[in-house]
Amino acid sequence: MLCPLAAADAEAGAADAPPALLEVADSIKTSDHGTFAKLLLQMEPEASKLSPQQQWHLRYLKAWDVAYYGDYERAGPLLDEVIAQDVDATLRFRATATSINILGIGHRYEEAFTRLDKLTSQLPQITDKRARLQGLGEAAQLLVAAGQYDLAAQYADEMLKNLPPGEGPCKGLFFKAESAYRSEKPNAREQLDQAIDRCVSVGETVYANTLRAELAVADLERGEATQAIAVLTRNYADVQHDGYQTLIAQFDAALAKAHLSLGNLAEARKHALAAVQNSIKGEYTAPLGMAYQVLYRVARKQGDLAAALAYLEQYMAADKGYLDDVSAKALAYQVVKQQVLSGRLQLDTLNKQNQILQLQQALDRKAVEASRLYIVLLLMALGFITLWIYRLKRSQLRFMWLSRLDSLTGICNRKHFIEEAETALQAAAKTRQPAALVILDLDHFKSINDTFGHAVGDHTLKHIVEACRPLLSAREVFGRLGGEEFAVLLPDCTPEQALARAEQLRAAIGALSPLESGELSVSASLGVADTHSAGYDVSELLVRADHALYRAKSEGRNRVVATWMGAAVTRVVAGASASV
Ligand code: GH3
Ligand code: MG
Ligand code: MG
Repeated sequence: MLCPLAAADAEAGAADAPPALLEVADSIKTSDHGTFAKLLLQMEPEASKLSPQQQWHLRYLKAWDVAYYGDYERAGPLLDEVIAQDVDATLRFRATATSINILGIGHRYEEAFTRLDKLTSQLPQITDKRARLQGLGEAAQLLVAAGQYDLAAQYADEMLKNLPPGEGPCKGLFFKAESAYRSEKPNAREQLDQAIDRCVSVGETVYANTLRAELAVADLERGEATQAIAVLTRNYADVQHDGYQTLIAQFDAALAKAHLSLGNLAEARKHALAAVQNSIKGEYTAPLGMAYQVLYRVARKQGDLAAALAYLEQYMAADKGYLDDVSAKALAYQVVKQQVLSGRLQLDTLNKQNQILQLQQALDRKAVEASRLYIVLLLMALGFITLWIYRLKRSQLRFMWLSRLDSLTGICNRKHFIEEAETALQAAAKTRQPAALVILDLDHFKSINDTFGHAVGDHTLKHIVEACRPLLSAREVFGRLGGEEFAVLLPDCTPEQALARAEQLRAAIGALSPLESGELSVSASLGVADTHSAGYDVSELLVRADHALYRAKSEGRNRVVATWMGAAVTRVVAGASASV
């Protein structure tokens, strides 16, 4: 049976605009099917003026109407078009519900149950109460047909919970009563009575009369044929008026059986033939089997054995077909249920696998982030260490450099002078280059300190170094041996050149400008030793130069004495000292 919607209290007005007519038509599809069909015809020429959503609504109603008239072959593709559109999700849902209905009628139970599973999974997203009611109704109906009465009753309960405005509990109660009746619940009869009352009160005669037909069959089984005939006859005209073929066949079959049990063979035959006539072609239903059974018995009672045999064969075929159909529905339900369950199981497994993968990826990401952090930290630590080492080295170098210099004058201190002189002398020794070492000692320096103070003495020492530096090249080593005593190593220098260079130094010191007052005069005595006579050993050269210096002092100071000179050639500068 198509699952009709509630009776509409709205009356269609011919002057209404197409969009309003759509709503009216939708609401009276089953309660006033004649007007509904007229409204569809009326809207057809105006269809292009409707919005896309309204056009799909109209197409759905037309498809529904084609299904109502039993033309399932045409209705299926029309509904599939509405299911494929993506303008209106609610219409898609409704079209799916209707298509499930006609798939069931067409005995395509597996497809029907597969679509039902999709339909029920869409339910949470559907907010339109009327569409929900229709979907739940489809579910309940198909489940009743498959013998899943408890599940059908649950859907019926859902239908009763959230009724659309203007909608009574007729349909929910209908499926509840059907489930109770078919599963032989003790209170089934009361439920059927209650559902009939509520459906009658809202004009849903198709629903009410379907239940009346069920009740009549139950009465017949209890042997209450008269009561059954009374109920069926009372409502027979309404059923004819509604024009719902399946229900007409149910009424006629039940009436035929009732009349047969009372011995009214003619009435029984009349209704049985009507039931056969109204049964949908190619469909084996319970009423059809019942009708052929009645026809067989009537023919037998009337002695028409040939006809009896023919009806018996048809009865057997219809009954077998009906039973096959019942088990096909139940089987399809189980098959789809298993498929859906295993599909969900697979989906669950996939989801779990996905979750594990995602977790793993997240962990990997975290591990990468952590190792990046470690690398950054390590690099930072490495940077700090490098910087620290660099600074340490720099200060080491600085200290090393400072430790080599004389703090007052900035030239080599004694130790460093000897090291540098040794290096230079070794190089000279290798190439047999001549070199010379000069020691320079300031004359009577003590008296400068005594006369002008120690600070002036320091100042004088710095001044003298600054006077000598420009006279020396980068290769020549200049150092302070201690106190007011200095030394110069002259690589690549002959004894004569050495003498001349020592003389230059002495003259430069003697020529210094006055320091504190004109009375301060500075002079120096110098001793010169050379490698030719002393060899390349620095100690030997120092000792020999010191001897020469001693001679210079003893010979009157402010002069240069070389080791190779005799006392007679000691150079004496006129005036003995320069006034600075
Ligand atoms: P001579 O001509 O014999 O060399 O006489 P001198 O006074 O120069 O020699 P002496 O060895 O008697 O005295 C050296 C003086 O040099 C003693 C000390 O006061 C002074 N002197 C040594 N080192 C420094 C120094 O760093 N600064 C100052 N201001 N004086 C120094
Ligand atoms: Mg001295
Ligand atoms: Mg001195």
